[in-house]
Amino acid sequence: MTARLLCAAAMLLAAACAAPSLFHSGPTLVHGPVDDMLDRRTQALRTGDETRFLADLDPKQPDLLQRERMLFANLRQFQFSEIRLHQFFPPDIAKPIDLQNGKAVEVGVLLSYRLAGIDTGGTQDGFDYTIVPRNGRPVVTKIDINALGSDSNNVPWELVPLRVARSGNVSVAADDTAGDPAALAGAIGAADQQVRRLWGSRPAAPGTLVFASADPTRTRSWFFAGLAATIETSAFVSRVRAADEHGIISGDVIGGRMILTTGRIPADQIPGTYRHELAHAISAPLSMFKPEPPPWATEGYASWVEDPNNKVRLDYVRNAVKQGTFTGRLPDNATFYELARIHLDYGLGLTVFRFIAGKWGAERASDVYADVLSGKSLDAATTRVLAIDQATFLQQWAAYVRQLPA
Ligand SMILES: [Zn+2]
Repeated sequence: MTARLLCAAAMLLAAACAAPSLFHSGPTLVHGPVDDMLDRRTQALRTGDETRFLADLDPKQPDLLQRERMLFANLRQFQFSEIRLHQFFPPDIAKPIDLQNGKAVEVGVLLSYRLAGIDTGGTQDGFDYTIVPRNGRPVVTKIDINALGSDSNNVPWELVPLRVARSGNVSVAADDTAGDPAALAGAIGAADQQVRRLWGSRPAAPGTLVFASADPTRTRSWFFAGLAATIETSAFVSRVRAADEHGIISGDVIGGRMILTTGRIPADQIPGTYRHELAHAISAPLSMFKPEPPPWATEGYASWVEDPNNKVRLDYVRNAVKQGTFTGRLPDNATFYELARIHLDYGLGLTVFRFIAGKWGAERASDVYADVLSGKSLDAATTRVLAIDQATFLQQWAAYVRQLPA
């Protein structure tokens, strides 16, 4: 079933791009006993009725009961503007599930949700339920949490007990190793407000959700870390894909999740690290998966927000100029994260926004970043925001970089 579900997901992705209207005119979904069961579980989640949430699970499976009890307790600590468990299948192949007493069937199940005050749209979490009809009633005997494969992260609320605390726009969900989530939320809250003020009224994720653990193996397994994790080992942001009510995943980003490994950031670097990651998180809804925004822009802007005068980062640039290895060009997207040049590339990215902010003001630095992040070419961005074309801009930037060592 997992393979089938993945295959269907891939098919939907492809089809959704080619002909989205196909799925809005498909046959009506069949509503059967499995859908009724998922509706009951949805209702239980919405109303906080744990007994009802567990009622359709096999009572002889203590591990299953334990994990679903944990999932319920975790989910109940978040505020959802939408939450619904429902079957996943493309509307055009919807058919009633053949329920025969005692015969196991596997059903793809989606948890579609939108976190209130955090995301700009809906997303989903995928499961693979094994259901055995007993006395005319569907009984869930197994739930596989890896149903959507690599396209869907294992959200930590499926994996470990969490404690959630909120401060301003920041929600922190901490596992049992991360310490007090309220203290963490308080610490991040101030940095969050700084970044929000800088970002102004540009499109943004309304809130920031941070998953925290002191266990680096755990935090790496929670979300897709991306290539930046080679340098951002203590905290990183993973973008979250939009999905509609049919489980069709679009190229849109509805927000970002910050994953924080507590205890690994030196105290004096904590505010800067938060600002860096919050710059990624807050602007995530402007970014796309295709085309991917250039890392010189995403990491450069985040590094500038972190600290425009970061000596370590700027020294990599100064040294490249002194050694004659500065080419006058922006870092290459394909090699940006290569270990031999990653520090220089972060520094060069920083100088792009430092240069704009110094010459035209901080507002214009954010404007150029927002344009490039949302898919505009650098030429279009500099022409719109700075009234100069890309060639002129890069010439001026390269001259600015060359005079840095002085
Ligand atoms: Zn970064």
